[in-house]
Amino acid sequence: MKLQNNHVNVPETDVRSPFPPPAERSSTRDAFSLDSGEMDRRKAFLEFTEKDVARLKELHERLDGDAGFFVDAFYAHLLSFGELGGLLRDEATVERLKRTQTAYFNRLTSGDYGEAYIQDRLRVGVAHERVGLEPKWYIGAYCKYLALMLPRIAQITNDRDPGMGETVLALLKILFLDMGIAIDAYINAHQQSVQRKTTQISALNQIAVAISSTLGWQELLDRIMRSGIALTGSKAACLAFYDEDQQCFGEWHTQGLSDHFVKNMSFRPSGLADKALANGNYILSNDHPGAEHKLSELTRKEGILCFLCLPFISQTRPLGVLYLYRDDRDTFLPEEIDLLVTFSHLAAIAAENTRLHINTMKLAATDALTGLLNRRELEDRLNVEQQRAQRYGEAFSLLLLDIDHFKKVNDTYGHAAGDAVLKTLAAVLAQQTRDIDSVARYGGEEFVIVLPETDGGGAKVVAERIRKAISSTPFALPDGRVIGVTASIGVACFPHSAGNYGAMLERADRALYQAKNTGRNQVYLYRELLQAELERDPGRIVQLLNEGSENAKPVATAVNMKTTHLRDHADLVEHFALRLGKKLELPAADMHTLGLAAVLHDIGFISIPEKVLNKREAFTPDEWEAIQQHPMTGAALLEQVPALRDAALVVRFHHEQHDGGGYPDKLRGEAIPYLARILSVADAYCAMTNDRPQRRAMKPREARAILCANAGSQFDANVVTAFVEMLDEER
Ligand code: GH3
Ligand code: MG
Ligand code: MG
Repeated sequence: MKLQNNHVNVPETDVRSPFPPPAERSSTRDAFSLDSGEMDRRKAFLEFTEKDVARLKELHERLDGDAGFFVDAFYAHLLSFGELGGLLRDEATVERLKRTQTAYFNRLTSGDYGEAYIQDRLRVGVAHERVGLEPKWYIGAYCKYLALMLPRIAQITNDRDPGMGETVLALLKILFLDMGIAIDAYINAHQQSVQRKTTQISALNQIAVAISSTLGWQELLDRIMRSGIALTGSKAACLAFYDEDQQCFGEWHTQGLSDHFVKNMSFRPSGLADKALANGNYILSNDHPGAEHKLSELTRKEGILCFLCLPFISQTRPLGVLYLYRDDRDTFLPEEIDLLVTFSHLAAIAAENTRLHINTMKLAATDALTGLLNRRELEDRLNVEQQRAQRYGEAFSLLLLDIDHFKKVNDTYGHAAGDAVLKTLAAVLAQQTRDIDSVARYGGEEFVIVLPETDGGGAKVVAERIRKAISSTPFALPDGRVIGVTASIGVACFPHSAGNYGAMLERADRALYQAKNTGRNQVYLYRELLQAELERDPGRIVQLLNEGSENAKPVATAVNMKTTHLRDHADLVEHFALRLGKKLELPAADMHTLGLAAVLHDIGFISIPEKVLNKREAFTPDEWEAIQQHPMTGAALLEQVPALRDAALVVRFHHEQHDGGGYPDKLRGEAIPYLARILSVADAYCAMTNDRPQRRAMKPREARAILCANAGSQFDANVVTAFVEMLDEER
């Protein structure tokens, strides 16, 4: 079984933990702002004076530093109340509290009520809050204290001592001071807990919104893990999915864990994850003495001090488990666990919904018989691909495939056999294409394959490979018989066959028709078809160009196909001419004309035989004369297209030379239209730097030297200067 292992580093997150790290937690003391001024005010209100301090000190001495004499009696009283007994069930805690309490009672009469006293007082308050001792018990306990203390004071001071009343009053004052602080401590603790709850609720809410607005599976899982980590300030997370068919965890995703950890992690049967999932309860793992689930060696090495394994259960079924790993402390607080349990449940519901949504989308986009994309989805993909290609100036191709004589398969072997053939064919197509290609069932037994970033040449190679793969595949029928099948393929490319996907489909269909008509089991490119068509009827060029300027490329490509050396020529000249035009800061309208003229400048070759164009030897005088006609032939065609009248002039004069030595009109200098002078330099540079039938390509350096040597004679010197500067700038 294929294990999916998806590990990413922890990215930024908006979700903030409602549990700040210890360093950020304000001390209880700060929360009250009990500065000495405040303490003085409280003491003043209680009329707590130096005389009271002296009285308490005296009492302290007489008690001989032993205020713990009644702590046992005090606790016996507290523990006799069921609710309190329940809170203090643990012996060790009771012992610890008794010690703290003894120290506290001792301090109460120590006479020193400064900074250290307040701190101590607050510590006791925090301890009470921890064990859950409510104010009613806490304040009530003072009564027991007094009840035990007063007889002792009476005994020490002897009843007739006139100071007894003063001592008792001093003690009451300090007790009221303490109670005031205690009440504030409770109020503060309560406020903090309300605040924490609010933060938790808003964090959960934020997460619910974040995860339910995500549609992509991977993105959703990343968000869940990121939120879980942020919510509790954890170090890392892992989300593992249980595969019900395979009865094991088959897919997991992690964040914040080392490659080593991820590589070595595993989910053994009836392990921790299995248990958490089966029982529906979280499991905490750490190295506490007596911990049921100790950390593994791998986990310890990762620097993890504890982790929580939470069941990941949606409303309908268990999906898997969610792990959160800490490296800052060795446990999760109870409120963190509560929050994570809710979070995990919320996240599981979001995961289940996203899964359903993705499946529904997949079903809606695919063809039921073959599992390939359906026609609607194909159109969406073509649309996206066209926009991408337009934006980045890239090519892409489309193959339209139709099974040969498929009716015969149905007629001979039955419809079910035909269906089986379609399924096998779909598998062959899927196997023969890349992940980035789209394979769709376009109609009954017609298929379309979209090849991103692929030009006509590349598409032809792929189409041939597919054609051969089909013809060599044994197609097994449901009854066990095996037959052979062939298919014909038409190919169209963007932008060389058509300027939009609708026209591509239509032109691929025409190429397919041609393949069928000329014998089947073969591949035809639209541009091959168009080339033959234009040869037969050059008037078709005008017709196509009149349909729209997006046909300029297909027409030029088809014409240039006549010679092996001009295959990319129109694209190259367009590229250099437009760069040069930009360098010369041409206005937009001129740039448009220059681009069209550059693409179409050689369409006059349509009336020159291929034999002549591809000739390796020198041209005869007649051939040379024919060649010199091509600017006029081209211009004559373009003049019949109203939108291309300006470009026609540029094409007509693109072989004129500055010194009058060019053709066809032997114009000189400024009499040659500016755009034609620009095109002439770009054209010459592209011709020199590419192979021609009579010679090999020159190096750019050589071509550039020739341009410079002929500046002012053959070429416009200013244009050459700009061209050379442009080359230098872009080097
Ligand atoms: P050609 O070589 O010219 O393409 O000949 P052909 O017999 O394949 O002709 P055509 O492409 O027009 O045939 C289409 C046939 O495909 C008609 C229809 O019976 C069959 N077909 C279309 N969809 C299905 C399908 O889903 N299952 C089956 N079994 N046959 C289908
Ligand atoms: Mg068909
Ligand atoms: Mg067919």
